[in-house]
Amino acid sequence: MYSDRINNLPPYLFAAIDEAKAKVVERGVDVIDLGIGDPDMPTPDNVIQALCKSAKNPDRHKYPSYIGMLSFRQAAAKWYKKHLGIELDPSTQVLTFIGSKEGIFHIPLAFLNPGDIALIPDPGYPVYKIGTLFAGGVPYIMPLLKKNGFLPDLEAIPRDVRKKAKIMFLNYPNNPTSAIASEDFFSEVVEFAKENDIIVIHDNAYSEMTYDGYQAPSFLTVDGAMDVGIEVHSLSKTYNMTGWRIGFAVGNTEIIKGIGKVKTNVDSGAFEAVQEAGIEAMLGPQDIIDDMRKIYTERRDALMVGLKELGIDMDPPKATFYVWAPVPKGHDSMGFSKILLEEAGIVATPGNGFGDYGEGYVRFALTSSVDRINEAVERMRQLKV
Ligand code: PLP
Repeated sequence: MYSDRINNLPPYLFAAIDEAKAKVVERGVDVIDLGIGDPDMPTPDNVIQALCKSAKNPDRHKYPSYIGMLSFRQAAAKWYKKHLGIELDPSTQVLTFIGSKEGIFHIPLAFLNPGDIALIPDPGYPVYKIGTLFAGGVPYIMPLLKKNGFLPDLEAIPRDVRKKAKIMFLNYPNNPTSAIASEDFFSEVVEFAKENDIIVIHDNAYSEMTYDGYQAPSFLTVDGAMDVGIEVHSLSKTYNMTGWRIGFAVGNTEIIKGIGKVKTNVDSGAFEAVQEAGIEAMLGPQDIIDDMRKIYTERRDALMVGLKELGIDMDPPKATFYVWAPVPKGHDSMGFSKILLEEAGIVATPGNGFGDYGEGYVRFALTSSVDRINEAVERMRQLKV
């Protein structure tokens, strides 16, 4: 009944985790969920108010523009200037997405012919690979290894692959490894992209989720980046707005135009009231960013104590709300996640759910209160691994 496209999808590991979690909950266990990368705190009230006001305006009830309201694109450009120091033309260099997942999924359709290669980080956000496969493209895996700071080794990409590659996905601060990238690395990427005529898609969803004074750079900061790439952004994580479905892309005009052509044929834009709420999020009070940083720092530090109890010694991450922990000796990702769930009632995501190179790790999301994380730490203390 189904297309090969659907039949050939890799098994959805997260469904198996949900099932395992449901069984443990059924047993009456008080489960602490550190699995999902979905903020547990509410969207700021000023943003909700902006939605309510806008939703009452009949002008907002019509089909939106495919590429997003000009006022939203202007707000995104202003936000980029203020937060990341990048100058953008809102009329040609910004495109609104119905959440960045939507944009990421559709990007390969604009640039890949069947058989063209997309360079995909592994472990990584799964949509880079799935979007490539759905567009008939061929994913070429760039392993993200600890010894390279979880950055891809561009030199290791064979010449024939470079020739056939049309796009490269990158994501720093990184999900799931929480690794960060320097401007020097981004400059290397630009040089590589120019040499090999490759379009760079940098996903910067976690740019504001940073700790200990670290500031994540935009890919577009480095010389030449605007010639070869775009950056995808999202309001989901910065403003606790995952359910609202609003994001955008910025950067090279021709690349933005190509993605816009796909979108014109696929959807009819994001609800304008949501876009107006997004404008309020980006241009209204920004206290939430620092407030969230403080909260996640406290949670991160609490979890690091628990990991030490398990004999896992690692540096605390400088960004994202993920902790990418190597599993204790003698375990694999799935086995260790099972022990955490069944013996301690803690949900963590097995690293191999993000690709083969995620094997040997589990990902904890800091999306429960510090009290719950302390409780998880207490349970880890009792755990024999
Ligand atoms: N990019 C990365 C790296 C993510 O981790 C996520 C969500 O977890 C997304 C994009 C998608 O975000 P959204 O579609 O909510 O904008």
